[in-house]
Amino acid sequence: MNLVLLGLPGAGKGTQAGLLADKYNIPHISTGDMFREAVKNETPLGKKAKEYMDAGELVPDEVTIGIVQERLAQKDCEAGFILDGFPRTIPQAKALDEVLMELEQQLDLALLIAAPEEELIKRLTGRRVCQDCGATFHVDFAPPEEEGICDECGGKLEQRDDDKPETVKRRLEVSREKTDKLVDYYKRQDLLAKIDARGEILEINQQIQDLLEDAGDDN
Ligand code: AMP
Repeated sequence: MNLVLLGLPGAGKGTQAGLLADKYNIPHISTGDMFREAVKNETPLGKKAKEYMDAGELVPDEVTIGIVQERLAQKDCEAGFILDGFPRTIPQAKALDEVLMELEQQLDLALLIAAPEEELIKRLTGRRVCQDCGATFHVDFAPPEEEGICDECGGKLEQRDDDKPETVKRRLEVSREKTDKLVDYYKRQDLLAKIDARGEILEINQQIQDLLEDAGDDN
């Protein structure tokens, strides 16, 4: 099962990708997580990515494509993968097609998780992430038992720098136009499916699983 998740920041791609990865036992590949890890470890990649991320801009294609190429060639991707946050541009989508061709694989589905922008702003600016284990909370929709403290591990909860209101606005602007182009790209390849991001996480996940099973039946 080779799946691409599309959607604006805050649509729930990461949450859904995590659940699907557990269900199908395939890796969840999030370029955002890969960049954040690199920033945290102050690697050369992290140093390059940080300035773009802090400004809410996209990391240049050549950098991003390189890390995904390397990741998809790893053994654990042979049985499939879920890409979350990649591709975000048409050159990235084309590069993905080429990588998959070289690996003699193909995409099963590009799934757009869609939500109105006001909803996304609320979700992003209220999101809090554990600095130790990465668990995600929300100040209104999924508050921790004790404010600022992770329910899972007791770590400190913080707001991602790029979830601050000014950066959220810029991230949404940058993403909107690019996502529309990707939607067209995958529509033309007859690979696009769309799902409404509003609702219960597990219900949405079930809808996605149903779609994937249908996509599998068609192949
Ligand atoms: P995310 O967690 O997916 O919202 O990504 C956080 C940030 O990482 C984005 O705002 C970009 O700066 C960078 N990033 C993640 N994925 C990509 C990508 N496919 N292309 C370029 N930049 C990316």
